Amino acid sequence: MSAVVQECLSCRSLLFPTRLFCPVCGEDSFSTVAAEHGTVEQTTNLSNGTVLATLSLNGGLRLIARLTGSEAKPGQSVPLTNDPKAESGVNAYIPIHSNLNEDQP
Ligand SMILES: [Zn+2]
Repeated sequence: MSAVVQECLSCRSLLFPTRLFCPVCGEDSFSTVAAEHGTVEQTTNLSNGTVLATLSLNGGLRLIARLTGSEAKPGQSVPLTNDPKAESGVNAYIPIHSNLNEDQP
């Protein structure tokens, strides 16, 4: 299980959500990489029961994900997924953008 994020081909920065150009180096060539796990930094419980988490990935990227399965504590490593129906334990779901690979066949 993993989630897809954008990687700058020039400086290797990881980006999410997708960008038209890299905010670090200004280049506009990207690939995608599969990110396996993120570390929970902080969680927020919404009134409807949804749990959101700020996650940090290796490489410095931070992103907001929805936790599925159950709650996680800060410092815990959780698997990432683009599948909103992922089951079996705690997962961090991040939506995939339809234009993520717009330059690739
Ligand atoms: Zn870059």
